[in-house]
Amino acid sequence: MDNIIILYNQNKKQEQILHNSNRIDKNLQFKITTKEHRSINFLDLTIHRKENNMDISIYRKATNTDTTIHYLTNHPFEQKIAAFRYYTNRMITLPISQVSRNMEWATIITMAKNNGFPENIIRNLRTKLALKKQKQKPTTKEPNQKWVPFTYFGPAIRRITNLFKGSNIKIAFRTTNTIHKQLSKEPYNIQNPSGIYKLKCNTCNKIYVGQSGRAIDIRYKEHIRYVRTNNPQSAYATYILQNRHEYGLSNNTLQLLKACTKGMRMNCWEAMYIQKFHQKGILITEQQLYELNPLYDCIRELGLLPRNQPTVSGITAQDTH
Ligand SMILES: [Zn+2]
Repeated sequence: MDNIIILYNQNKKQEQILHNSNRIDKNLQFKITTKEHRSINFLDLTIHRKENNMDISIYRKATNTDTTIHYLTNHPFEQKIAAFRYYTNRMITLPISQVSRNMEWATIITMAKNNGFPENIIRNLRTKLALKKQKQKPTTKEPNQKWVPFTYFGPAIRRITNLFKGSNIKIAFRTTNTIHKQLSKEPYNIQNPSGIYKLKCNTCNKIYVGQSGRAIDIRYKEHIRYVRTNNPQSAYATYILQNRHEYGLSNNTLQLLKACTKGMRMNCWEAMYIQKFHQKGILITEQQLYELNPLYDCIRELGLLPRNQPTVSGITAQDTH
C-alpha cells in the first residue's frame, strides 16, 4: 500500500493525533492537511465533508486537459482506449456517490466526443468493465508467460499477432508514428524524386500506382524494359502485355504523386493512393490492393492530399524511346 488517509475530528488536538499516528509504524509518515471549503483532495479523490458523512468524488487538477489519443489515429485500439478504460474503471470501482458517478460519466462521454470516439464504444466499455467487476476473481499469472512487442503500422498486423492467441506469448504494441517522426522532414531529391508515382496505360488511361526508393524515372524505365522483353515482372508490365495495350512516354504517362523516401511512410502513402484510384475505378486489375484504412477518407476529406503535381516531364529530360 502506498497511501493511507486518516480523517479526524478537528476538535481534537492535531499535534497529538499526528504524534500517535506516526507511532503506528516507523515506515509510515503522516502529514497534516487541513480542509478547504469543507473538502480535501487525496490522490484522485475529492473528499467532501457533509453534515453526517463524507462524500467522495473524482478530483481533476485544474490543469487537466481532456485530450487523449484521437480515435482516428493509426494507433492500436488498446492504446487509444486505454485512457477511457482507466477513467471508466476508476468511476466504477471507487466508492463515490451516485451523483458524482453520474457527473464523472458525463465528463468521460464529453471527453470521448472531443477525441472522436463513437459514444457506443465507450458505453460498451463501461458495460464490459462493470461485468468484469461483478465476477472479479484474482488474476492468475500464467507461468512462462512472455510479453513480446510488435510494431503497429495498421490493423493488418493483427493477422500475425492473432496467431499467438491462446499461447503463452502476450502481445504488446509499440508505435513508430510519433509526433517527432511526423514533424521531422524527410530529405528527398527534388531533381530525381523517389516516392509514389502513377503510371498510365496509353490506350485506356487506366492507372498503376507504384513506389520507388530510387528516382521514379529509373523505375519507369524498368517497367518499360519488362514490357519490351515480354517479362511479366511488374503488375504494370503484366497488364500491358496481357491486354495488348500500349505504354507511353514518361512525360505523358508517368506522374509523381508524392515525393518521399523508402520506408513505412512510403508504404502508407502507396496504400492510400491505391485505395484512392481503386475507388475511382480507374486502377488496373493487376494492382494488388491493401486493406482499407478509414484514415484515407479522412485525409481526402480534410484536403490533406498534395495537389496534383506536375508530371515529371520537366524533371526527366529524355526518354528511352
Ligand atoms: Zn489499358
